[in-house]
Amino acid sequence: MDSLFNEYWLQLSQLFSNSQQRLYWGYLLSALLISALWLVFIEKGKSTKLNLKSLLISHWLSKSSSADYQVILINKALFLIITPLLITKLYIATLIYEQLHLYIPIRSDLADITPEWLVVTLFTLTLFIFDDFARFFLHKLMHEIPWLWHFHKTHHSADKLTPLTVLRSHPVEGLLFSLRSALVQGSCIAIFIYFFDDKVDLYTVLSVNVLLFIFNILGSNLRHTHIYIRYWHWLEALLISPAQHQIHHSTLPAHFNKNYGATIAVWDKLFHSHCYSQLSDNLQFGLNSKQDSQEHSLYNLYIRAFVDIGKSIRSFLKSPKALKKRSLPD
Ligand SMILES: [Zn+2]
Ligand SMILES: [Zn+2]
Repeated sequence: MDSLFNEYWLQLSQLFSNSQQRLYWGYLLSALLISALWLVFIEKGKSTKLNLKSLLISHWLSKSSSADYQVILINKALFLIITPLLITKLYIATLIYEQLHLYIPIRSDLADITPEWLVVTLFTLTLFIFDDFARFFLHKLMHEIPWLWHFHKTHHSADKLTPLTVLRSHPVEGLLFSLRSALVQGSCIAIFIYFFDDKVDLYTVLSVNVLLFIFNILGSNLRHTHIYIRYWHWLEALLISPAQHQIHHSTLPAHFNKNYGATIAVWDKLFHSHCYSQLSDNLQFGLNSKQDSQEHSLYNLYIRAFVDIGKSIRSFLKSPKALKKRSLPD
């Protein structure tokens, strides 16, 4: 029991000390610097004090943030127990590697003729792009499949955004994203090792895929803040800006089901869910503009999804047409 307790605190502290985590202190610090520079040099003093106060103090003391903290503590405990039972990327990689040997028994000489730097570049790029697409697609499903949306509401019920909000998610969503990660990484590793043997490696910084490191150090944490950082129009067509993810959290009906992307905006372009940021957007966050503090209760964060799914099943059995794509938040 003692070792489980120690492991729990170790994993909690690693949220901030491990560079593979979004909340690594280095990424938080760079986000803070970027937001300070943005407020001083781009917004040029317009409500700078107010924004800095919300970034550093007031939002962290809100009911919404208090719910974020509770979800993080509870989910960490839950996943400490569940994780050993989950499918791993090693299991997926072994399974796919064996299947490749079965169905493509004659290997080409790709491993011999491809230079190592090219293999490593291809692997680094493929892993990043495939991972980002899978993240986009599962996020899209979380919004557009009604029973998945009930779980994803836990994330969207945050009405004050801080970098910790990224971890405010229902455990079922956590399970799905962990399965996604194992599938993506496992299949990439298996395919590359099958074709390129021991030349497969990753370009990394602090043991993190270099592309992911760049994304994180350039302020990935600003997505979950109220600092409305926009990119140039052309860049927002390629990469999701912090403002675009804030639009994703907006209570305005015109913003529902927009900007599912994590890093690459092209997926949203392809699937018609892309939305550019506007100069004057003054966004409100949450499930809807009238939500109250009950949204942050443990019942609503954890249990309501199951109750709502039960209700949906009952109404579906009465009238199948009732189960339709989300058009308004509830
Ligand atoms: Zn979402
Ligand atoms: Zn979010």
